[in-house]
Amino acid sequence: MTEYQDKSFWLGATPYAENAPLAEDLEVDLCVVGGGFTGLSAAYYLKKKKPDLKIAVLENEVVGYGASGRNGGFSMPLLGWNITYLNWAYGEERAKPAHQFMVSCVKRTKELVEAEKIDCDLEYNGLLVLARHERQFRGLEHDYDNYLKLGMTGVKLLKGDDFKARLHSAAHIGALYDPETAILNPAKLSRGMKTAVERLGVKVFERTPVSSFEPGPTVTVKTPKATVRAKYLALGTNAFTVRLNVNKNWYVPMFTYIIMTEPLNEKQYSSLGWTKREGIEDHRQLVHYLRLTADNRLLFGGRDAPYYYGNQVEGKDRHEGIFAGLERDMKEFFPGLAEVKISHRWGGPVALTLLMVPKFDYYSDHKNIVYGMGYCGHGVALSTSAGLILHDLLFDPESDLTKLLFVHNFVGALPPEPFRWMAVNAIKDSLRLYDYLTDA
Ligand SMILES: Cc1cc2nc3c(=O)[nH]c(=O)nc-3n(C[C@H](O)[C@H](O)[C@H](O)COP(=O)(O)OP(=O)(O)OC[C@H]3O[C@@H](n4cnc5c(N)ncnc54)[C@H](O)[C@@H]3O)c2cc1C
Repeated sequence: MTEYQDKSFWLGATPYAENAPLAEDLEVDLCVVGGGFTGLSAAYYLKKKKPDLKIAVLENEVVGYGASGRNGGFSMPLLGWNITYLNWAYGEERAKPAHQFMVSCVKRTKELVEAEKIDCDLEYNGLLVLARHERQFRGLEHDYDNYLKLGMTGVKLLKGDDFKARLHSAAHIGALYDPETAILNPAKLSRGMKTAVERLGVKVFERTPVSSFEPGPTVTVKTPKATVRAKYLALGTNAFTVRLNVNKNWYVPMFTYIIMTEPLNEKQYSSLGWTKREGIEDHRQLVHYLRLTADNRLLFGGRDAPYYYGNQVEGKDRHEGIFAGLERDMKEFFPGLAEVKISHRWGGPVALTLLMVPKFDYYSDHKNIVYGMGYCGHGVALSTSAGLILHDLLFDPESDLTKLLFVHNFVGALPPEPFRWMAVNAIKDSLRLYDYLTDA
């Protein structure tokens, strides 16, 4: 049993009552593995659309233990590396419906929060993508043109006084503003989604690791004390899927890390000039991401994303070198925070695919076993709506959602170790070198 309270600021900040593990054999219509946004969304939307389904969620630790309780809390429409990449790789005809669905996911998260009265400090303030110098700003201009091609007319480029009116960063000259991003407290959202599915009649079992499953017309799901027999199985295990020995050849678990300050005092807060409290990323390849919390702490994450040999997903939640680098970068962006204390440091695994897009599909050829995963570090919006796609894969397989570019898609193939480690690090080193050469 792993303690979860220090896995992120969010998971430890509010008290939480765990559910009991599964202790007896169970027969259900749908068994969901994983109590993150994907699993809870599957339970939520399938139960909403098919109230007669008997549904159980099995979570290895507690709800939100994985990325869903540790993330930066940006619910954003980004799919793929960036918008320019998305258009280039898939063409506008395929990119447009996919991006529009992503925007609808951000809006739907807000609707879900309101409908289920989930207190998760959601602020729909948009996103700023920062440019350090003219060359990066030209990249943003390129992205801006691509947003327009996809019909996103609310996007703006900000420079000079317009930029300074939004943020006082000592390291940046301008930004692209996209109105379609919300920031939220992810652990509160995970726990609120758990309460919402329970209200609908879904059973949620925590501290219930699934060790294996056997496909068939009835799927048999094994846990330490009991077996679940289900007509349908939905996997919401994202980076942790490696432990089930599933889909291992097309994604890698990689870690991203975050530091968080104590609540800023008035002087520190006003030195930021962050008037509209947007979520922020920069235009690097290995991005920084930053935001304010409800109690005015600064969350500052990213910078690097290690892969640990052999697909490790546990025991790597801290990286002192990256924490120190993040603190240096934070103080370079905001010299007014030179004296501020860092109160929390944490990390967690995300699942990256080679083509940088997620994948929703059937497991092997089993039409009663579905999954959604590989969100590439940008899964809050999509995983929170994942249940709609998983529903259609099971019950409406020709729907428009199943034709989106991240359903039944090829996402690249990765070799086994040691070549996997070499390939991932070669790609990452080239990104790091690009940032080193262009981010000065
Ligand atoms: C530090 C960090 C920052 C991030 N920041 C952002 C951000 O700001 N915006 C954004 O869009 N995305 C962000 N992401 C990514 C985002 O959090 C994920 O894409 C999203 O939460 C994925 O949700 P999920 O439910 O698919 O997976 P997870 O939340 O990882 O949930 C998987 C769950 O399955 C459980 N599980 C695994 N194996 C088993 C098993 N065998 N039996 C039972 N249960 C099992 C795990 O315990 C876990 O609770 C971030 C991720 C991290 C780690």
